[in-house]
Amino acid sequence: MSRTRSATTRKGRAASRTRPRGRLIVVEGIDGSGKSTQIQLLHKWLEARGIEVVFTEWNSSDLVRQATKRGKKKNLLTPTTFSLLHATDFADRLTYNIVPYLKAGITVLADRYIYTAFARDTARGVDPQWVRDLYAFARKPDAAFYFRVPIEVAVGRLLGSRAKIKFYEAGMDLGLSADPVESFRLFQGRVIDEYDRLTGEYGFRVIDGTKSIDTQQRQVRDLVRRLYDEQAQEAS
Ligand code: ADP
Repeated sequence: MSRTRSATTRKGRAASRTRPRGRLIVVEGIDGSGKSTQIQLLHKWLEARGIEVVFTEWNSSDLVRQATKRGKKKNLLTPTTFSLLHATDFADRLTYNIVPYLKAGITVLADRYIYTAFARDTARGVDPQWVRDLYAFARKPDAAFYFRVPIEVAVGRLLGSRAKIKFYEAGMDLGLSADPVESFRLFQGRVIDEYDRLTGEYGFRVIDGTKSIDTQQRQVRDLVRRLYDEQAQEAS
């Protein structure tokens, strides 16, 4: 290795020692589990502690927005094309909205991550290993919270907070039932079964989503605080 190159490498190492490591914290759970409420509260709390944070959410990249919208509107999507569109969306956000921030030492909060694809796509009949392989390029999060709620709690919350359950969140594309609420119960019941399988496989930190917003947030903060304390110990 040339002298210039090794000097640059030493400098790079010194800089990465002083720069805080960006944390990737993700939340998972079925619709109505309360995960968005929790990640928003966590966002505010981290910012109040002077930690730089950015937020990203599932299925939000401009790159595939139109294709997904058109496919959904005309009910053209198969479980496989649906899965591939989401994977493209994710790959785009990972490249532009997640990795650069982590490298800059900024914490990234993600409302849903690859486990959403594992749970939902498998519940739609996609091969579980195929979908895991598809996302093999993803970065492992520092913490993945799973907000676990029974179906009836989620249904009650969704119907209480908005007029109706959406077509795809109810899994209506699968033709399980003509009644959206019943379809939601059946489809999201499968998604819960998948999340339960993923919990051990990926070491989710399970939060009882039936508890009060404050109780859950306290548990989330305790765990997140530890993530930063570990880093402080690593640096000292
Ligand atoms: P998700 O992102 O999982 O779909 P949200 O955070 O949007 O869930 O919450 C869905 C609805 O449930 C919202 O109206 C929210 O205010 C309410 N909610 C969230 N957490 C709780 C809780 N612990 N107890 C009661 N209602 C809750």
